[in-house]
Amino acid sequence: MSSISERLQAVEGRIAKALASRKSEIEQPGPICLIAVSKNHAAEVVEEALEAGLTVFGENRVQEALPKIEHIGVKAKWHLIGHLQTNKAKQIVGKVALIHSVDSERLLQQIEQEAAKQGISQEILLQVNVSGEESKFGMDPDAVWELSRQAAQWPHVRIKGLMTIAPLMEDAESVRPVFQEAYSLFAALREAALPQCEWQWLSMGMSNDFEVAIQEGANMVRVGTALFGARQYAPKEEG
Ligand SMILES: *Cc1c(COP(=O)(O)O)cnc(C)c1O
Repeated sequence: MSSISERLQAVEGRIAKALASRKSEIEQPGPICLIAVSKNHAAEVVEEALEAGLTVFGENRVQEALPKIEHIGVKAKWHLIGHLQTNKAKQIVGKVALIHSVDSERLLQQIEQEAAKQGISQEILLQVNVSGEESKFGMDPDAVWELSRQAAQWPHVRIKGLMTIAPLMEDAESVRPVFQEAYSLFAALREAALPQCEWQWLSMGMSNDFEVAIQEGANMVRVGTALFGARQYAPKEEG
């Protein structure tokens, strides 16, 4: 069995190669932010990953994230990457540096309310579903435009970019059009320069498809299995 630090080296090599083969028309400032997806792995595994040099960890369920964040503390930076139910927003605001999965106005409002109460500014990404029905979560591009235009309504929320989850496919090549579409939406939003929005991050790509995502413009990738090995049990999507 290989160690996290060996796997990290391999992942970093793959990232560098993908970045080097990115098309020149893609304007995306480097470097790539690697999120180590630690869901379904114990806090001890996160400790080992920290020692290997990983710094940002992604969790997909609030109930699992909170005790781990408590245990590890500020040594690590935490992101919530999984679906967030409106009624759980209160518990996670202020505990994570970035929430990747904001997909409704109601959820935005809830985050705003809690962030205002805490007197903080919560960074978020809007989750877009460019591939249609195949994925349960995420907004269509029109809804993303609409919320982005209204960003000033949520002064304690900072929209930092877009996140998308490609449908699971045997062959990573077949999801390339999904990543292309997400990037072109991202580029158009950035071009529009709406007030209160900073289009810094395009979060897309997981263990099986992050190279294609990077080639198509991702600058934040969420990698679990390729760093930590297979998870013990299937993760729940609902956060
Ligand atoms: C689990 C998960 C990942 C990582 O998946 P791997 O295939 O293990 O790399 C990335 N993003 C989200 C939203 C996830 O839930």
